[in-house]
Amino acid sequence: MTVVSDTAPNDAPQNTDPDETKHHEVVVVGAGFSGIGTAIKLKEAGFHDFVVIDEADGPGGTWHWNTYPGVAVDIPSFSYQFSFEQRPTWSRSYAPGTELKAYAAHCVSKYGVTEHLRLRTTVESARWDEDIETWWISTSKGLITARHLISANGILVRPNMPDIAGVEDFAGLTMHTSRWDHDVDLRGKRVGIIGTGASAVQVIPTIASQVRDLTVFQRTPIWCMPKPDFPLVGPLRWSLGRLPGALDIVRLVSQLFVEATFPIPAHFDRLIRVRPGAERLALAYLKSQVRDPETREKLTPRYGLGCKRPSFHNSYLSTFNRENVSLVTDRIDHIDAGGVVTGTDDRHDLDVLILATGFKVMDPDNMPTYDLAGEEGLLLSKWWSENRLQAYEGISIPRFPNFFSVFGPYGYNGSSYFALIEAQATHIVRVLKHARRVGANRVAVTQEANDRFLEEMLRRRKHQIFWQESCANANSYYFDKNGDVPLRPTTTLESAIRSRRFPLSDYDFRTANRSQSHVVRLTP
Ligand SMILES: Cc1cc2nc3c(=O)[nH]c(=O)nc-3n(C[C@H](O)[C@H](O)[C@H](O)COP(=O)(O)OP(=O)(O)OC[C@H]3O[C@@H](n4cnc5c(N)ncnc54)[C@H](O)[C@@H]3O)c2cc1C
Repeated sequence: MTVVSDTAPNDAPQNTDPDETKHHEVVVVGAGFSGIGTAIKLKEAGFHDFVVIDEADGPGGTWHWNTYPGVAVDIPSFSYQFSFEQRPTWSRSYAPGTELKAYAAHCVSKYGVTEHLRLRTTVESARWDEDIETWWISTSKGLITARHLISANGILVRPNMPDIAGVEDFAGLTMHTSRWDHDVDLRGKRVGIIGTGASAVQVIPTIASQVRDLTVFQRTPIWCMPKPDFPLVGPLRWSLGRLPGALDIVRLVSQLFVEATFPIPAHFDRLIRVRPGAERLALAYLKSQVRDPETREKLTPRYGLGCKRPSFHNSYLSTFNRENVSLVTDRIDHIDAGGVVTGTDDRHDLDVLILATGFKVMDPDNMPTYDLAGEEGLLLSKWWSENRLQAYEGISIPRFPNFFSVFGPYGYNGSSYFALIEAQATHIVRVLKHARRVGANRVAVTQEANDRFLEEMLRRRKHQIFWQESCANANSYYFDKNGDVPLRPTTTLESAIRSRRFPLSDYDFRTANRSQSHVVRLTP
């Protein structure tokens, strides 16, 4: 189909290639597992006129961009995969990043998503056109239009650069963990790493034995627990692949483990007291791993387990026993050409500076990663800033018709991302199928449904750990600028069930032409 209207918004960029001006029934932004999973569900439901756009030059999202030494999944692989495409051939119980990237390519190819991919293309903005009930989407390769727009652009995408004076002045090599430069040889170098979050926990033990000196700059210590990470040897893989039900049983056990390590302690802290026992175990583990009492003290978290995502690693803590590794907890004052200077005036001269400073996360202008304007040009980032983050079931926002987000506020409960993707894609495709069935070109969640959902989430969050005093020092990226933690305070099972059962009457479905439009009445 060619472009649907010649009334592009005034600020729309001109296409360099007229053939790039295309209309699609659905445009999906992001070719990580969210985009791939959504594409597979769309195809299954009979939607074929769609594209999946990504600025990367390959699919896989997180696992395409993050290739730092030691990168691996930190929940068991049996949970970190699609329920409909379970792989018995993972090399380990916690797969390395390269296998996840390969798994993404496998899913794309097996489920026929390849022809829908539009890579090396950045979505810059999207604007809803009420007159023609269509999204105008500006991309680095020109303008396209879509009836429906699905944001699957991830949350851990835009590297967060530290707000430290002089960070650009460093004369050695600086790299963010998510943009690792594999041409850099760390052997014999003085390396500094800023941050001790999930990526740092994997990088630090992997590079410590290669470098001359490794200085770790820590602001907030992370809870780190042992990881049941073991190779999946031949006979085990054989059994998983051949014995009926074996994969399902292992997956169930794995899901229960994941649920017990984050969603239950985080969201039901006041109801189910697993935290004190888990903290005692984690502290005992820390004691068994770190010999020097002073270093151990510095590595001891001063906030409750679950206030931020805990990490799992078998050699992170013991790496601090090494002679060539030092832990600095003094505040960084500035960075200059030679290295890092702390508030205590100590200099740390470096050859390489690694920024393990995470990503822009719960910022309204990072969700999505491009400017999005709904009805009457209303900017989503502005609306969210003024009204706090909210979205019905973490997916739809009133006044932003035909727009759906896989990772929206109160969508994710912190368990496996695949559980989120499957639930959200099920919800979105259910709405799109219904719109098709009733001939609706425009679909928007009702204000009433959105308000009801937000009220429910805020009411249920009182059991979450985030609101207990023990989280005051966590410095967790879960907190947004309004002090909210837009994580879903429910179990994973509840999210899955709701994605199949939410009342379709929570949406207004309108037929094609506004002048003849009517709200399709539905009974719940
Ligand atoms: C190092 C690391 C380890 C992780 N480990 C785990 C784990 O163990 N378990 C877990 O559950 N989760 C983990 N996560 C979270 C991880 O992000 C999710 O599991 C999952 O991969 C997210 O998939 P996604 O498709 O939603 O987003 P992503 O994988 O981030 O993919 C989003 C894609 O959208 C593209 N994109 C974004 N904006 C635009 C734009 N404007 N135009 C074009 N393209 C755009 C990006 O290039 C990217 O390819 C980890 C994240 C990181 C960074």
